[in-house]
Amino acid sequence: MKVIVVGSSHGGYEAVREILADQPETEIQWYEKGDFLSFLSCGMQLYLEGVVKNVNDVSYATPEDMRAQGVAVFTETEITAVDAANHSVQVVDHAHHTQRTESYDKLILSPGAIPATLPVPGNDLANVYQMRGRDWAIKLKAKTVDPDVQNVVVIGAGYIGIEAAEVFAKAGKHVTIVDMLPRLLAKYLDEELTTIVTAEMEQHDIKAAPGQAIKRFDGQDGHVTEVVTDQATYPADLVIVATGIKANTQWLAETLDLDDHGMIVVDDHQQTSAADVYAVGDATLVRFAPTDGTKTPIALATNARRQGRIAGKNACGIPATTPLVSGSSALPVFDYKFASTGIKEGTAGQFGIETKSTLVTDTFRPAFVPAANGNAKVWFKLTYDPQTTRILGAQVLSTADMTQNINTISLAIQAKLTLADLAYADFFFQPGLDRPWNIINLAAQKALRQLD
Ligand code: FAD
Repeated sequence: MKVIVVGSSHGGYEAVREILADQPETEIQWYEKGDFLSFLSCGMQLYLEGVVKNVNDVSYATPEDMRAQGVAVFTETEITAVDAANHSVQVVDHAHHTQRTESYDKLILSPGAIPATLPVPGNDLANVYQMRGRDWAIKLKAKTVDPDVQNVVVIGAGYIGIEAAEVFAKAGKHVTIVDMLPRLLAKYLDEELTTIVTAEMEQHDIKAAPGQAIKRFDGQDGHVTEVVTDQATYPADLVIVATGIKANTQWLAETLDLDDHGMIVVDDHQQTSAADVYAVGDATLVRFAPTDGTKTPIALATNARRQGRIAGKNACGIPATTPLVSGSSALPVFDYKFASTGIKEGTAGQFGIETKSTLVTDTFRPAFVPAANGNAKVWFKLTYDPQTTRILGAQVLSTADMTQNINTISLAIQAKLTLADLAYADFFFQPGLDRPWNIINLAAQKALRQLD
């Protein structure tokens, strides 16, 4: 069997690994249009902050390693068209300026997404940057040490924008972060928690400018100098646009069913509308567990990886179904760490469902343990269905690393657990590590009392 895998980031990488594990004798051709295999944008902040020294280390696979495992790896080689009826793809080798047709038995597409641009005057000025992929990583790194860059404006206060703001604040730049939503991280955390994160960012000299729409970028000699919003003007030597992504699927529009936003339509096995063609990652939707499977865009490496494995299995003839997901994500922000999953009070409206939430604020170890010994305050907010008490989501924030609690809630959502299940669930106690009642127990117990 011959399998062609397109795209070498999370989704493509996992598909290749799965096929190697399930059917090592398969002929695998792996294509990447960029000049580097398997760069992982998730590691970009660590590189920009100097924790990882070499940009090429932000990767899981090298061509040499993969070739040693029998995979035919092609970089700087783009698949420009799929002929599903004839089971073939058009291959353009940018390095050698050649083209050819390759046949496949199975095709797995993980073409991912490209950062959205802002349709405002001045968006083509120099020093208007984005944050995705190795090329932008290298350009951004140069700006962190460029003395001509003093004022940085980040547009978009999702987790990528927050990472960008932190990188440049730590590099000693004056950072402003603008978002049209009324709060930073509005899609990830509710207001009680974003207030704390925003204060933490302001402590580190990041100016938060939420609730503002970008009108234009002004410049001089072709370089950006100012960002103009509907409320203020901010000086800018560098602008980083992190306002979302667009599926990289235009080249597939004639071949596969795409939705109105250009996302590749797939079934529960990652199968597209064409026989023997699978698609995974940011160019596809996932099924949202809290609403029993509503198709929704959640662009996370975890989803791409899971789907890559499932597509790889199905391509090998091993039937596999992609599980529902809750969109669990986490981020450190200076001294704080937060994580969230499922539905928040602030996002419930978009799913059209009634929710109720309970916030617990406490220390994560017993009160007698001094703060100086690491007994940090923790905010934990649990969201549930007030009729059935089914768990729908949660958020956690602390200077201690409490983020793993969110993985527990993700599992609770998937297993359709209720408040009663969590209120007295068996979690460990050791004063060096936790309280007699874990914060999840406490939140569920409080929620049950509130419902009485
Ligand atoms: P992509 O990563 O978009 O990769 C697609 C690849 O396919 C690219 O290399 C592209 O060049 C190649 N390609 C596209 N079309 C073709 C073609 N026609 N022919 C050949 N090659 C092609 N997620 C998390 O879960 N946790 C995190 O901490 C996290 N941090 C992030 C930080 C940043 C700064 C960014 C930008 C993203 C982060 N993400 C994180 C999201 C995560 O990176 C994406 O969800 C993930 O990369 C999606 O993988 P993918 O395989 O769908 O596509």
